[in-house]
Amino acid sequence: MNPLQTFIKQLKPTRHRKTPNPNLPVSSWSEQDRYHNEIVDAFVLILRTRGCSWMFQSGCSMCGYFNDSMLSKVTSDQLINQYKQAMTRYNNEPIVKIFTSGSFLDANEVPEKVQEYIFSDLTKKTKKIAVESRPEYVTETSMNTIKNQLTKTELDIGIGLETSQDFIRDFAINKGFSFEDYRNAVTLVHNNNFSVKTYILIKPPFLTEKESIEDVKQTIDHVLPCTDQHDILSFNPTSVQKNTLVEYLWRRKQYRPPWLWSIIDMLTYAAKKQKKTRLQCDITGGGKKRGAHNCFTCDSEMLSAIKEFSLTQDPTIFKDVNCDCKNQWKDQLNLESTSFGSLPDVMNP
Ligand code: SF4
Ligand SMILES: [Zn+2]
Repeated sequence: MNPLQTFIKQLKPTRHRKTPNPNLPVSSWSEQDRYHNEIVDAFVLILRTRGCSWMFQSGCSMCGYFNDSMLSKVTSDQLINQYKQAMTRYNNEPIVKIFTSGSFLDANEVPEKVQEYIFSDLTKKTKKIAVESRPEYVTETSMNTIKNQLTKTELDIGIGLETSQDFIRDFAINKGFSFEDYRNAVTLVHNNNFSVKTYILIKPPFLTEKESIEDVKQTIDHVLPCTDQHDILSFNPTSVQKNTLVEYLWRRKQYRPPWLWSIIDMLTYAAKKQKKTRLQCDITGGGKKRGAHNCFTCDSEMLSAIKEFSLTQDPTIFKDVNCDCKNQWKDQLNLESTSFGSLPDVMNP
């Protein structure tokens, strides 16, 4: 392990103070989403697995998903119990999204028999399933197993690429895979007629606000040629999660979560670039100190506009939003290179 990996690993607890119940999911809820050109309800469920395999080795600099993981073995029966428990709240939503705070296709995290159980059950119930996976678990074998279970149901596999720049992914995010690995996984997913949701990270640590905007725009340019008709680009602004490198820097005033103005700028750029790939932006902790925010006065208006954009894909929504803090944001873009890093909220502590 390199020093960055060692440092990230030692920030994490090795077990929970209070052991969570392995028979209960982390959470489940219904939310709005798009299914082709319609706005529909989607059912979301988060399973409590042992945790992401990469997290046990060291983990990504911004990821606090392990806070929701068991951090110890969860049996197949327990995972199926969690799934059944969550599904008691299922209301025939045409999309079902299953998150595990790791990789659904990693058999060490979700055993194949559990993957098969869930896919075969959902294929009878819903039109589209969404799961997430690191690229190394997208293999010919895993694709064939899924194809045997899903007959008509569409499948969307989310991959956390974060950035198309290997240097940033290695040294700011510590993601542990390359752009080439991502591209190979995308080809495999497409060859099996499934679709890909690519997660792009907005503002990894060590990048200034301006560098992050440039990185995201460059990533959009590099990823769009890899996309297919039903693919999604999902923009994820960094939020400050407990026991992460990002939190370590944030507490020392060396990191500020992204401005909502930056996000609007990136989404407008992506919308201008193309029309076929769906764009989406879910903001965890938006409008709070630990999440993407502006001046805290205009945040709820900006967040509503970003949410509406995700549903309608119409960037003209952003023409109607304004606030004086836009000048402060622009000043920051110009000034922060002289501060040798991301400017904290000195005006709004
Ligand atoms: S971001 Fe994904 S790959 Fe990285 S540690 Fe978290 S769950 Fe694992
Ligand atoms: Zn404002």
